[in-house]
Amino acid sequence: MVDLQTQYQHIKADIDRGIQEVIDTASFVKGGKVTEFQQHLEAYTGAKHVIPVGNGTDALQIALMSLGLKAGDEVITPTFTFIATAEVVALLGLTPVVVDVDWETMNMSVEAVKKAITPKTKAIVPVHLFGQCADMEPLMALAKEHGLAIIEDACQAIGAEYTFSDGSKKQAGTMGEIGCTSFFPSKNLGCYGDGGAIFTNDDALAAKMRAIANHGMVVRYHHDMVGVNSRLDSIQAAVLDAKLPHLDEYIASRQRAAAYYDEAFKDSEHFMIPGRLEKSTHVFHQYTLRLVDVDREALRARLQEAGIPAMIYYPVPLHMQKAYQDPRYKKGDFPVAEKLAESVLSLPMHTELDDEQLAYITSHVLA
Ligand SMILES: *Cc1c(COP(=O)(O)O)cnc(C)c1O
Repeated sequence: MVDLQTQYQHIKADIDRGIQEVIDTASFVKGGKVTEFQQHLEAYTGAKHVIPVGNGTDALQIALMSLGLKAGDEVITPTFTFIATAEVVALLGLTPVVVDVDWETMNMSVEAVKKAITPKTKAIVPVHLFGQCADMEPLMALAKEHGLAIIEDACQAIGAEYTFSDGSKKQAGTMGEIGCTSFFPSKNLGCYGDGGAIFTNDDALAAKMRAIANHGMVVRYHHDMVGVNSRLDSIQAAVLDAKLPHLDEYIASRQRAAAYYDEAFKDSEHFMIPGRLEKSTHVFHQYTLRLVDVDREALRARLQEAGIPAMIYYPVPLHMQKAYQDPRYKKGDFPVAEKLAESVLSLPMHTELDDEQLAYITSHVLA
């Protein structure tokens, strides 16, 4: 699905130098490297504040903690996503309210969000699934109308850009009150372990989230709030700082592979290419087909035999997960998400795919 070894070979000298520098200076946490990377990421994303943390799940948790919500407050998330989005809501004693997604873009349906808002709703967590932004402009208008905070789950979409109707553009993670991303190795900007970051333009929220990520501490050993311990370490920051200058070219490689897949499948009745939202670029964390009248398991087995990995992101929507059973929801409540769970298949997608590999993959899928 990914080829991190080849990617490393292209930038080996920079990565090795960065890691060696951290070892030589022995500043392993909160070192200069973390600050340097933070500043470079602020410049890249346009976010006023970047707060490096331990991983993307922590980023979401700290973001939610900063809103000062109380037990029973409702947070709306799509039901078709990675579990972390709802997990942190449940962990904090808040109530996840899930909504259906759009069949074409596979992202949260704004109409569904509108219907799910109650007097207890406090926040919305849209997910920019597979690397394409959810439709933020109408969602932000809805949030404003009801006084709700938006925390973007941009773990799969760093570098994706959304264009507003006035022509202005903003990056994934920098549109809501808070944005969260992950640097898990297979993510579009991945480190060599765990890492994550929070984005915000709000000075007060930034200060609060920095403190929460550091045991709720503002002045050393004085704890103003209950916090957590979540930090990006310097070695991971060195890896990320070496990769960040290449992110645009990595995105372009992914888009080129996606264009090849699009071309191969566009006339097929069985393999529906990912639907695009005109207002957003797509950075293709995943290239996800929707299969129509295809035996998915048989296809996967056939591909596996040819040495082609293919993954199902995600096989079970949140409302049908054992740990998230809720009397409010039952099978059939979110038909689009349920249909997607049964029909999606993600093909290999990374920065190192060449035409020969793409031809091999597409011909085997279509065979
Ligand atoms: C990867 C991911 C996360 C969690 O990131 P980690 O760094 O693995 O904790 C959260 N949400 C989505 C949509 C993701 O893809």
